[in-house]
Amino acid sequence: MTSAADESKSRNPAQIKAVCLDIDDTLLDSQSAARSSLRELLGTDRAWPVWERTTDRYYARFVTGQMPFDVMCVERTRAFFAAFGEDIDYAEAQSRENQRMEAMQRAWGLFDDVLDSLDWMRATGLRLAAVTNAPSAYQRKKLAAVGLADAFDAVVISGEIGVAKPDPRIFHAACDSLGLQPHEVAHVGDKLTTDARGAARAGLSGIWLNRHRIPAPRAHAEDTVPTITSLEELPELLVTEIAAPALADLVGQAR
Ligand SMILES: [Mg+2]
Repeated sequence: MTSAADESKSRNPAQIKAVCLDIDDTLLDSQSAARSSLRELLGTDRAWPVWERTTDRYYARFVTGQMPFDVMCVERTRAFFAAFGEDIDYAEAQSRENQRMEAMQRAWGLFDDVLDSLDWMRATGLRLAAVTNAPSAYQRKKLAAVGLADAFDAVVISGEIGVAKPDPRIFHAACDSLGLQPHEVAHVGDKLTTDARGAARAGLSGIWLNRHRIPAPRAHAEDTVPTITSLEELPELLVTEIAAPALADLVGQAR
């Protein structure tokens, strides 16, 4: 004879016991903080698209280990000014970057939907991890600045373990830290390829947090991941599409 629990398990193979979250632009509104730092440095943020493109180019060099983070930050600032025809030396770029970084750190803040979402997940018994591509001290300082230093059961930082998203090894390191198998863990992040598809390829439930409602590029069926536009939508997604009925039973109590 099959018990109700066995039946629900066979209907719902995904038994989500933990949720990993990316940090930048998922929990922290890092883009607004960076725009604000540019305004403070230049008096305007009209050059934001150039800053974004320069960041994409230079951040990749840090993530792939070609440049230490601090050097990347200075070289990025230097390249940004060079794009407008201003050739500055390393020392001047360092000084402007320090000014920009201080302004950015003053502007660090959480999105409005973060605390309720974390509270809900905690109340349903889900364990939580942060999984991020960045240097260790910088990310830990960031979490402390927004009051999340003790919010997670595990904090997995590429700068500490030597591999970065979307490498499956960082997602598996998060699962190991939580003592769970990949199929028991969901990962939510703002980057479609780096976060959601990367996590899905590592065997987790990858979820794309598309806050700016960017049109999704075409994907093969195996690359299709659930999408939310706010963390407010996460509970329903976890309950109705991903998680086990046991979690659904707890929703009424937590809400
Ligand atoms: Mg991010």
